[in-house]
Amino acid sequence: MEIKRASEMGFCFGVRRALDLVRKAIGEQGHLQSLGAIVHNQKVVYDLEQIGVTVAGSLDDVTSDTVVVTSHGVGPNIIKNIQDKGLKIVDTTCPHVKKAQNIAGKLADEGYSIVIFGEEGHPEVQGLLGWSEGKGTVAIDWSGLSDEIPHRLGIISQTTQSPKNYAEFVKYAVSMLSDISELRVFSTICEATSKRLAAALELSKTVDVMIVIGGINSSNTKRLAEACLSQGVTTYHIEQNEQIEPSWFEINSKVGVTAGASTPDVIIDSVIEKLKLVAGAGKPS
Ligand code: SF4
Repeated sequence: MEIKRASEMGFCFGVRRALDLVRKAIGEQGHLQSLGAIVHNQKVVYDLEQIGVTVAGSLDDVTSDTVVVTSHGVGPNIIKNIQDKGLKIVDTTCPHVKKAQNIAGKLADEGYSIVIFGEEGHPEVQGLLGWSEGKGTVAIDWSGLSDEIPHRLGIISQTTQSPKNYAEFVKYAVSMLSDISELRVFSTICEATSKRLAAALELSKTVDVMIVIGGINSSNTKRLAEACLSQGVTTYHIEQNEQIEPSWFEINSKVGVTAGASTPDVIIDSVIEKLKLVAGAGKPS
């Protein structure tokens, strides 16, 4: 077996920044609660719990004096609710998410209807909806939206969507230009997502099996797995090395490895080690 690593994978700038901010704050405070998981990775969440950073499901569950806003960001109403409760905030919103929030807020102020290309239930998208001030709609395709295309429309994307899928989505809006008097489209997919996707696509063309490592709820990891599958390569999305089955591989398999932006190096390394063990064991059982 040959094991190849994607040229870009694992922790992104936004996740590293969020973890640095939280570790610094915990040193000063002793106990913090985050509104939802800081990143969509169980190992990271577990490690943070060990140093006193726990996850609150909602603001009502918060018992600490300080609340961590995760890298996914929140809407302005949540920020106000935190302040109204007299709690302090450690804001780890990724600057790329912040940029998308600012665009949503500006479009809303200027009277545009806003379509957010993304996953309805994802925390980042919920935050973007908040910044859209009631003028936002979430969609991953145009079914159900096409009958009510507004005259002044702004389109933004969740930061971790696929650039190719976003381009297709926007193309449809452009084809409807006779019904839209003004269309504004913003490039809000982050560079980390684009680079990891491009590297995964490149690698998946050269291997027999792709292993995609990352949280099952991680949006950017799901996009990586979809991209590999789109190349027709057998793809497994795993969270940790215990999930690897030797029967996935042939004796001469070329195996590609990539990982989402919230996957720590230690997990990537443990997966590579497990793959080496499988390779060293000879013919997989
Ligand atoms: S994936 Fe992109 S938007 Fe999300 S935290 Fe990382 S850098 Fe920021």
